Amino acid sequence: MAKCGTNWGYISGCRCDDCRKAHRDYQREYLSRPEPRQKHIARAAFRNRVAHQSMMWLKKNNPEQYYKIYDKVKKELADD
Ligand SMILES: [Zn+2]
Repeated sequence: MAKCGTNWGYISGCRCDDCRKAHRDYQREYLSRPEPRQKHIARAAFRNRVAHQSMMWLKKNNPEQYYKIYDKVKKELADD
């Protein structure tokens, strides 16, 4: 049986005051941490932005190549 006064006690099903408090504290700490998911989203947004800017540059400076990539990606997505 899990020890009382720990989050694990709460997860194991105990709902005594000590376990509830430990669970509350755990959640508060967990929520105050920067979420890995948010970092992941920020990184994806960064990559999207770089990709977008690169494509805009290519479209302006080498439209022929841009439309080659454009058609290739369009076909790839249509294949799914
Ligand atoms: Zn308990």
